[in-house]
Amino acid sequence: MEGKAYYVNKPKVELHVHLDGSFRPETILHFAKKRQIKIPADTVEELLNITSYDKPLSLTEFLAKFKFFMPAIAGDITPDDVVDLVNQGLREGEKAFNIKARSILCCMRHMPNWSLEVVELCKKYQNDTVVAIDLAGDESLNLEAAPGHRMAFEEAVRCGIHRTVHAGEVGPPSVVREAVEVLKAERIGHGYHTIEDPHLYKELLNNKMHFEACLWCSYLTGACDPDFTKHPVIQFMKDKANYSLSSDSPLILRSTLNTDYDIAAKYMGLTEDEFKRVNINAAQSSFLPEKEKEELVNELYEAYDMVGTKGH
Ligand SMILES: [Zn+2]
Repeated sequence: MEGKAYYVNKPKVELHVHLDGSFRPETILHFAKKRQIKIPADTVEELLNITSYDKPLSLTEFLAKFKFFMPAIAGDITPDDVVDLVNQGLREGEKAFNIKARSILCCMRHMPNWSLEVVELCKKYQNDTVVAIDLAGDESLNLEAAPGHRMAFEEAVRCGIHRTVHAGEVGPPSVVREAVEVLKAERIGHGYHTIEDPHLYKELLNNKMHFEACLWCSYLTGACDPDFTKHPVIQFMKDKANYSLSSDSPLILRSTLNTDYDIAAKYMGLTEDEFKRVNINAAQSSFLPEKEKEELVNELYEAYDMVGTKGH
């Protein structure tokens, strides 16, 4: 048997993981039973068979997986209740596991009418676990035709709420440009297709824009060439781009963050030094308050034996 890879027990910073893509199957079954909500599975295995998959599907098919189990989880509670309860859970988790966990409230591209409510919730819970607003979903939907998103992100800028946007995952570089220029994104969710526009890519490299890369997810959503040795993250690595690795949706992808590290080590040539750099990138690009961010960065330097080494 092979020994554990060196990164398995190292602390990791994950910036991009969807709560609704991360439930344990047991939790879904528990609440479906408790609330007497019908879902098309009775056992963990049956549930995993309908919610997860291991060969590439389209992003739309990926997103369709959520409708099988979300009725059991979301139930009949208000968005405000959801944020409040998630915050309570994250605070408990921070203590129980000695980690830092913050939440980002995510708007959906096909639901522009929700976005203003989302930003209001970001404001209400701004100093209480919620750190940012995000936008996810079908990148082919025209942002101009959905002013709700732009208005919500403008309000976020005005109120000092951080911003990240899913862009250039399956969509073209123009969606990334729009995220940066119109929505004032400080980080890009995925962003792989940015490299197809060398001018934009160079601009974002110069501005140290952070890319939240999710390797196994990009394979299963068909976002990139299925050959990992041709993945845009290899370009990010060569160019010393500011990027990190995240799992995105462990339930749907039947994965953990280590799955992404395994892929990066095995097929993409990420070295121990690069994993250090990736985690320090993530900490520095996190939306923690400055003081906490500094503490986290210091902890990482210590954990990766880089005390006193600056620059990345
Ligand atoms: Zn995502």
